[in-house]
Amino acid sequence: MALPPIFQRDIPEEASEALSADHAAARLPVGAPLPEAALPSDAAGRLRGILSEAASMPADPVRSSDSLRLRDGHQRALTDLRLSVTDRCNYRCVYCRTGNGGEQFTELPIAHYLRMVRIFVSLGVEKVRLTGGEPLLRHGLLDLISEISRMRTAFSGTPLDIAMTSNGHLLATMAEDLKRAGLARITVSMDAVDPETFARITRVPNSFERVRDGIRAAQRAGLGPVKINCVLLRGFNDSQIEAFAEFSRREQVIVRFIEFMPLEEDRSWSPDTVVPMREIVERLNAMRPLVALPAHHASETARRFTFDDGLGEIGIIAPVSEPFCGQCSRVRITSDGKLRTCLFSQLDHDLIGLMLKGATDDEVISWIQKVVLHKEARHHIGEPGFLKPSRGMVHIGG
Ligand code: SF4
Repeated sequence: MALPPIFQRDIPEEASEALSADHAAARLPVGAPLPEAALPSDAAGRLRGILSEAASMPADPVRSSDSLRLRDGHQRALTDLRLSVTDRCNYRCVYCRTGNGGEQFTELPIAHYLRMVRIFVSLGVEKVRLTGGEPLLRHGLLDLISEISRMRTAFSGTPLDIAMTSNGHLLATMAEDLKRAGLARITVSMDAVDPETFARITRVPNSFERVRDGIRAAQRAGLGPVKINCVLLRGFNDSQIEAFAEFSRREQVIVRFIEFMPLEEDRSWSPDTVVPMREIVERLNAMRPLVALPAHHASETARRFTFDDGLGEIGIIAPVSEPFCGQCSRVRITSDGKLRTCLFSQLDHDLIGLMLKGATDDEVISWIQKVVLHKEARHHIGEPGFLKPSRGMVHIGG
C-alpha cells in the first residue's frame, strides 16, 4: 500500500523501502504509523527530516490568484487569525475576570490547533496571533510556535508573522525560548505603570516588577518593538495616561491605549467608563505636542503617534468612539476549538466538532468559507439593541 500522498512527494526511494521493511519488523501493516522507537535510528532521522521538510512546505504551491483568498460577505480578506490556546490565566484583572467563573473551556491537543492553523494558512492567513487567557501557561506552546514557524503563506510563500499577547508575568524566563521557537513579536497587556495600581488591577502582589522585567527580556531577545496594551477605565487607571507616555519614551516600547469594550465576564460595562480617543489625544498633547504617524496597513487597529522630539510611540485603539470594522481582517479560534467571526459574535461555530467527525481538509475549508460569508459587518456598541457577545474576552482570546 502506497504511503499517504503528502509523504510521497520528494521521498528518496530508499526511505520508502526502509519504511516497508520496518513495518514488517514491527509486525505492522505497511502505511500504519510506526512508533518512532520502532524505526532504526537512521530511518527515524530521515523520517524526522522529511516530516519537518513537509511541514515547511506551503500547504499548496504558492497560489497565484488573489481571488482564492478567504473573504467574508463584505469582500474583506481574512488574513489575520487569532488563536486562543487556553482560557486559564494567572491574573484576575478587575475589568476582565469580574465573575467567579474561572476557567470554563477545555484546551485542545496542540495537533488540533496546528491542523486548524495549516488550513487557515492555505486560505490566505498571513498573521497568527496566539492569545488566551494567558498563553504562556499553555504546555506545548513552544512546539506549537516552532511548527507554525515552518509554515509558509499560501500567496507569497513567505514565513508567517507570528505574534502573541501575554500578561508578561512569565515572560522574563521564557523570552529567549519563544524567540528561538520562531515568535516574531509580543504584545504585553499592562494597565498601570506603578506597582501599587498594577497590583490593585491584577489582584496579584508584586506583579509590576515581574512584567517590567519580562518586557526588558523580550527586547533583549529580539521580540521587539514590544507593544504594551493598556485598557483605560475612567476613574480607575485613566490617571496613568501621562505616566504611560513617559514609560514608552523611557523603555522604548509602543504604548497602545484601548477604549474599554463591553467584553468583561459579568457585564458591568457602561459608556461612562470609556475614555474616548479625543480625550486621550488632548491629555497627551497637553503633555507634549503629538505627531501623527502613518498606518502600517489598512487593517491596523491603532492610530499611531509620536511626540515632536520623535521619542516614544503611542497607539490609540478606539473601537467605541472610532470603530474600524470596515477594514476588519480578523477571525478567531477559541481555546476549545470554536470559530468566531467577530469579537462581538453571538455565535460560536463548532470547528473542532466538524474535525472530530472526520471531515477532510477540503470539507473543513468549504465549511469555513460558508461560515465567514456571514461575518458581522461591524459591532453595534452603544446602539439600541446592542447585545453583548456570547463570551467574555478572557474566553475568546482578544
Ligand atoms: S468588532 Fe468585529 S468586525 Fe469590528 S473590528 Fe472587531 S472583530 Fe472586526
